[in-house]
Amino acid sequence: MNTPLLSNYVSGQWQAGTGAGTVLRDPVLGTELVRVDATGLHIPAAFRFARQQGSGALQALTYAERAALLAQCQKVLQANRDAYYDIALANSGTVKNDSAVDIDGGLFTLGQYARWGEALGGARALRDGDAVKLGKEPVFQSQHLRTPRPGLALFINAFNFPAWGLWEKAAPALLSGMAVVVKPATATAWLTQRMVQDVVEAGILPPGALSVICGSSAGLLDALQPFDVLSFTGSAETAAVIRSHSAVTRHGVRTNIEADSLNSALLLPDAAPGSPAFDLLVREVVKEMTVKSGQKCTAIRRIFVPEPVFGAAAEAISARLAKVSVGNPRNEGVRMGSLVSREQLDNVQQGLRQLAGAAAVLYDGRGQPLVDADPAIAACQQPVLLGTMNADTAQAVHDVEVFGPVATLVTYRNVEHAHQLVQRGLGSLAVSLYGDDAAALARSTLALAPFHGRLHVVTPEAAQAHTGHGNVMPMSLHGGPGRAGGGEELGGLRALDFYHQRSAVQASPAVLDALGL
Ligand code: NAP
Repeated sequence: MNTPLLSNYVSGQWQAGTGAGTVLRDPVLGTELVRVDATGLHIPAAFRFARQQGSGALQALTYAERAALLAQCQKVLQANRDAYYDIALANSGTVKNDSAVDIDGGLFTLGQYARWGEALGGARALRDGDAVKLGKEPVFQSQHLRTPRPGLALFINAFNFPAWGLWEKAAPALLSGMAVVVKPATATAWLTQRMVQDVVEAGILPPGALSVICGSSAGLLDALQPFDVLSFTGSAETAAVIRSHSAVTRHGVRTNIEADSLNSALLLPDAAPGSPAFDLLVREVVKEMTVKSGQKCTAIRRIFVPEPVFGAAAEAISARLAKVSVGNPRNEGVRMGSLVSREQLDNVQQGLRQLAGAAAVLYDGRGQPLVDADPAIAACQQPVLLGTMNADTAQAVHDVEVFGPVATLVTYRNVEHAHQLVQRGLGSLAVSLYGDDAAALARSTLALAPFHGRLHVVTPEAAQAHTGHGNVMPMSLHGGPGRAGGGEELGGLRALDFYHQRSAVQASPAVLDALGL
């Protein structure tokens, strides 16, 4: 049987690759779904079209006009939501609640930027702070402003968020007036491609404003030019290739990198077993380990508890994990589906072998059968909780990111020791703190802030309201220093900075007024 070949959309046209293509599979059933291929595309011409036609047309509009386009895109996507759930079920192996994190999370983010953009009104450039006089007299002043960059925005995305990964980046980029070219990760490219197709067919955006290239990334970086931007999400190894590419080293292409992250959860010393804070940590850890089978860049990988709490925490987390049924997401009784591919399953098992010398297995679902899934075919992995009381010497725990339903419980002696251990992740996307003493939580927050992009503090009074350790809200920054890549996304309108050039204008007040900022 000839598996359907998905088309690419570049230079305002649907173009099929001319090669054999790569097959995308159902990770539970192992069946072939579609093929992707980017062979034969003329990338420099496609990029030229995106810059000139796409960004050109978008930048002729105001922020509010572009925001209205985002709102229309969201409407179209909303109308096609069922098809996206079907694709996610088949291609990502996720249960409905997990597909929602990706699909509805993407739509929510898009809608949020449409609202924020509307408030920017009829401007075409953004004021950045107030004018400051440059001498004694106010006749010559300095005013900073931000103007949309005249290039294109290339997104090279990871497999775990084919929907959200597109829209969390595209919303601020399009609102800023930059044309978007997305290259989704091959394993799950179908959902991204389908969403782009729906938006293109609805005829909302100007030609060239949104392109999709499925398949190999060959030639993409080579075609970048100085005013383009590149936003990458994926592994630290690929990130290193990108950082050393001549587009970045010679042309200074602005780059945002979201890479690996060994995120932490920290139970403060005052939280005894059975306390509300203890229970909140246990619930959140299990959620983080199992939502999307742990394939979330923000998922909790290391859980820090005081030494005396280790046994109770291990028991409570294991008891909850034992209730998680794993298998075919088509079965209503299944709570956790599969990983995205057999390749990822191999990666997870290799990661577990790397951690084996550093931590003991506390729970691994042994004896729990997969529901409706053949272990020889399905990329299903039971959750695994590891543990160590020797975190100082267990280096692998702070080094190895197992991108699956795996976390390690780690003990600390006192809060300073806990802070040191958390920092051994060398920079992470998120840390969550659990306790009941606001002052102690604030001290830990300030101590850990330089090492994290986001600090999620869970107290009993926020038990129902908190948005979740791993949940990326568009209002808050997403990104992290050090090994997390050093990137910054979202955070409300802060996200627009990446797609704008900041300039200082030194001029008389009359000229500054005439800028109309
Ligand atoms: P990956 O192998 O690095 O792939 C990421 C993307 O880069 C894919 O689109 C891939 O295309 C492309 N790519 C591969 N080699 C390339 C090259 N030489 N030049 C340009 N592009 C290239 O990562 P992954 O396995 O998809 O994603 C899993 C990793 O992403 C995890 O380690 C996780 O920590 C990280 N992640 C981080 C975040 C975050 O926000 N910080 C979010 C999600 C995931 P192909 O698929 O076609 O190879």
